[in-house]
Amino acid sequence: MTIANSVIGFMDSQPTDIQTNNLQQSVQFLRGIGDRRAELLGQIGIVSVYDLLTYFPRKYLDRTKIDRIANLRLGGEVTAIGRVSSFRIFPGRKARFILILKDDSGELKCIWFRGAHYMKNAFRIGEWLAVHGRVKFFDGLQIVHPEYDRLSDGKESENYGKRQIIPLYPGTEKLSEAGLDSRGFRRLIRRTVLDFSGAIEENLPVKLVAKYKLPGAKAALNMIHFPDSQQQLQDAIRRLKFEELFFLELMMALRRTQRKKVHKGISFTKVGERTQKLVENLPFELTGAQRKVLNEIWQDMQTEVPMNRLLQGDVGSGKTVVALTAMLIAVENGFQAALMAPTEILAEQHYLTFLQMLAGFEVRVVLLIGGRKKKERTAFNEEIVTGDAQIIIGTHALIQQGVHFKKLGLVIIDEQHRFGVMQRANLRFKGQNPDVLVMTATPIPRTLSLTIYGDLDISLLDEKPENRQPVQTAWRYDKKRADIYRFIREQLEKGRQAYIVFPLVEESEKMDLQAATESYEKLKSTVFSQFNVGLLHGRMRAEEKEQVMRRFKQRDLDVLVSTTVIEVGVDVSNATIMVIEEAQRFGLTQLHQLRGRVGRGSDKSYCFLIVSPPLSKIARERLQTMAVTGNGFEISEVDLRLRGAGEFFGVRQHGFPNLKIADIINDVRILQAARKEAFELVKTDPALSAAALAPLKRFFILHYKDKFQLSRVA
Ligand code: ADP
Ligand code: MG
Repeated sequence: MTIANSVIGFMDSQPTDIQTNNLQQSVQFLRGIGDRRAELLGQIGIVSVYDLLTYFPRKYLDRTKIDRIANLRLGGEVTAIGRVSSFRIFPGRKARFILILKDDSGELKCIWFRGAHYMKNAFRIGEWLAVHGRVKFFDGLQIVHPEYDRLSDGKESENYGKRQIIPLYPGTEKLSEAGLDSRGFRRLIRRTVLDFSGAIEENLPVKLVAKYKLPGAKAALNMIHFPDSQQQLQDAIRRLKFEELFFLELMMALRRTQRKKVHKGISFTKVGERTQKLVENLPFELTGAQRKVLNEIWQDMQTEVPMNRLLQGDVGSGKTVVALTAMLIAVENGFQAALMAPTEILAEQHYLTFLQMLAGFEVRVVLLIGGRKKKERTAFNEEIVTGDAQIIIGTHALIQQGVHFKKLGLVIIDEQHRFGVMQRANLRFKGQNPDVLVMTATPIPRTLSLTIYGDLDISLLDEKPENRQPVQTAWRYDKKRADIYRFIREQLEKGRQAYIVFPLVEESEKMDLQAATESYEKLKSTVFSQFNVGLLHGRMRAEEKEQVMRRFKQRDLDVLVSTTVIEVGVDVSNATIMVIEEAQRFGLTQLHQLRGRVGRGSDKSYCFLIVSPPLSKIARERLQTMAVTGNGFEISEVDLRLRGAGEFFGVRQHGFPNLKIADIINDVRILQAARKEAFELVKTDPALSAAALAPLKRFFILHYKDKFQLSRVA
């Protein structure tokens, strides 16, 4: 790298008390850091020298692309360089700090509404600044809250005189105050890269570096911080993304092999008579997809390797019957089977469905939920310990301390995204390596199934029962509500049933509950006075809820006013209308789930999303997506894009490492290549024992071992 030579002059010192062959040392010992700066760095995750080297620039200032102030494009994101010609604070309740930047073509006003008093001391007249942001015209050209970077200060500007691409580092105000603004970082990192370059090992298999034409580890770290050209920069980024995703997938591949090797599970041997009878006597034919999935589950159940399978099927695709069949197989092999559902209403509903479908089968099914009398609970616990209870359905009451299973062979978790990792693991630990099946209606975009769920086996229910029609969906402003109600009344007269759902979020729970209750009272006595209207919300006692659900199912109620407690799983096929109030407050996945409550029979169904203005751009896109597609997979892709991967599914819960540079949504192609290579490597050398892999193995153990060991149930 040419950088080395150009920086030597600036390097007035060699480190003294640090060994330049060890990247794991604390940054505290780097020259010029010390306790205080080390602490500040620690706050942004930089503890070791390695952390510092992989603290990548947030942006680059490409001087070949810098505009002269007179030529700045209004409304566009721009970067300009100039000298500070003046600045001042405008005091008041909302103090502002205004700085004027000049180049030889004109001047640009930079405005800060926050931190005015700090800013006042941050600049000097005449110094060179680069600023970046969106330009507006308001009494002259201006940028509000630009990102900025100091360029000139003694020696550094000389080094940067010829350099065209300048890295900008994310930082904090405190770090800036301590001298580690973007410029400070540049100096620090430059020195560190130089000093430690001898310690940077090639951690990828040499074969792959050649195959994908990647820069080496050392070169890549150099080039990402100090690129000489866009080409170098792009190469460095590609290499570092590949490396990151490769190690991620290596972890997935190793987890999977470990799971298959280490734990000895149950081998179920037969499909009993009752199971066969159950399938034969269903009121419908299983879809091809249901048969395929059941077969995959059965294959897993036969082997001694504990099943760890994710069953993914859109709302209404018929997951319940798949679950029941698998549970009955376990029972007929002499084991207990447990199903955990996220809400009492859902657990209750599964319970009723199972009782009905297993009528006359002599299988003992029990329901274990909170809010029951103690005596009753004790009696159930007793049945579970003795093994009298064969199929146990419940909420997280199942994982409470007092619950002990005699012989738990199969664990099924419904709507898995509602549970945390630990809750799921806890149910698994109630047995001895039982088979685990988790079911979700939220389709997982491909990139996530390759990463977060990368060590699971996945079954797909990609076909809906035949008789289904798409749910006609529209969004309307609330002033149209009267028209919608008229339409609903017509439908109710034809014998259909309707849901009217109100949002309920924790922060505004009281008000939300009140809104739902008041609307219920009003609808009951006015618009729907000639119909039977019921109310359902999470604050009701369990028996009350049960009763309301049961009445709705039996058609005693025509309209069910509800909060989002019905979001998942509720199944009443005669209900064909779903009204969602304040629809702009719901997320896409939630809207899709709610809509999934209708369209479950052969009658045409409708979904009305009622919104009150103002609508944000994103809310509008969500509503529009709902209106144009009923395909859960497409919806989840949009959702992922609108929310970003971090939010989606609470990615952080999954023992998923923070990615420093790669992006699992946008780097799919690199991801796929990295995954292929990692899995291939583990297949040929599961212990990573080849001599040539020593640096790779060292690196993995150092950076991924903890995450790898995090006990994990999908
Ligand atoms: P989900 O996948 O959303 O949990 P359910 O298991 O609740 O879906 O099934 C939705 C409805 O479809 C239920 O009423 C169920 O009885 C019915 N169903 C399931 N499989 C079939 C099938 N193969 N043909 C027709 N109806 C089916
Ligand atoms: Mg379901």
